[in-house]
Amino acid sequence: MAYVDAHCHLYEYREGDLERFSRIKMLAVSEDLVSSRRVLELGDNWDNIYPCLGVHPWNVGKVPRQQVSEVMGLIEKSEVPCIGEIGLDRRFVPHTYPEQLELFRSFLKLARDLDLAVNVHAPGAWGDAVEELRRSDVDKALIHWYTGPPELLEQIREHGYLISINPAIKIQKKHREVAAIAPTSILLTESDGPYKYRGMDLDPTMVGDVIEELATIKRMSREELREIIYTNFMRLLK
Ligand SMILES: [Zn+2]
Repeated sequence: MAYVDAHCHLYEYREGDLERFSRIKMLAVSEDLVSSRRVLELGDNWDNIYPCLGVHPWNVGKVPRQQVSEVMGLIEKSEVPCIGEIGLDRRFVPHTYPEQLELFRSFLKLARDLDLAVNVHAPGAWGDAVEELRRSDVDKALIHWYTGPPELLEQIREHGYLISINPAIKIQKKHREVAAIAPTSILLTESDGPYKYRGMDLDPTMVGDVIEELATIKRMSREELREIIYTNFMRLLK
């Protein structure tokens, strides 16, 4: 049973690193046109890498419109299973929120039309993101590194969406609380590597630690939990 990293910025790693991750099934996200092209290449070269193309909400206003259209064109003509990293962010970049919303909606429409999964970033905008997913009628969605309101988890479950748990679970109280109450049927593991968080160098090989933490919290065996996570992952990609 493979480990799962459902949200990773793999294009930032060197070729030599990828061998280390070859036993992990990974969703490789993009942030702009250049990373989308690189992620496509990674997907072609590695069986364990599933490409997600998109424009990150932090890049709204930075990536020219023409390049956004090119990313959308790539999504249409290449057979990627997933669009991302896309989303809404009121926490780190509140000033571009109206433009983020417009772009998020265009990507969700594309996901709906092509029946693709979406890999979503939503700090400070958790409820809005779920509402947009629901309204756009997208049915395969992952909300990554979820630290949103616990009461939203029930809605996420009802719509068949998933959330991913980051290695930060070790030190981030809010994330632990989410993991404790979220049903295992909506959980995935992720790294968001190579992002740095409070002294942690996040890396795909840490998904094993996430499984261990989750298994303890859920009082399950690691194997049992790994199997559930793997099944959830394949559900997102079908
Ligand atoms: Zn990310």
